[in-house]
Amino acid sequence: MFYARAQRASEVMTLRSVLAALTHPRRDTQPRDTLAPGVSGSPALHGSLQLRHVDAGSCNGCELEINSIFSPVHDAERFGVRMVASPRHADALLVTGPVTRNMAGPLATTFAALPEPRLVIGLGDCTHDCGPFRDAYGVEGSLEDVMRVDVHIAGCPPRPEAIIDALRTLTGQ
Ligand code: SF4
Repeated sequence: MFYARAQRASEVMTLRSVLAALTHPRRDTQPRDTLAPGVSGSPALHGSLQLRHVDAGSCNGCELEINSIFSPVHDAERFGVRMVASPRHADALLVTGPVTRNMAGPLATTFAALPEPRLVIGLGDCTHDCGPFRDAYGVEGSLEDVMRVDVHIAGCPPRPEAIIDALRTLTGQ
């Protein structure tokens, strides 16, 4: 008796989820071929983008915004963007902060572990000019000082919308 009721309930739930999908389809994602504001450089990478993040010396402000793009509010995964744990699974290196002396080596090692072709995305003003950490004793330089940067996302920190716009220029979704 109980089992039959539970089975009927699950059938109703399934029917409800199908109706919900039909009446509330996910937001349409149109392909994009223009640069997002604040982004320089748009290498073509279509469909999906696997990111390996390296904090090279950030204040953690940029990380908070990276976390927020994967929240249910922004849901960057619907545009084909995913974070991966290993650089060997990544298409691009996502770097935040100025490059500190302690992180210059690990950053270079992580970059070398990415398969070709590999992109470097500098997120935040620190990756361009070290921001408030310029001339600090522990700072080696900006990301642009130590390696070629394909895409720079401006802001201190960049807004989640700006980050998603920049990443969508790469995934084309
Ligand atoms: S760009 Fe701003 S928020 Fe991001 S790491 Fe630098 S100081 Fe912090």
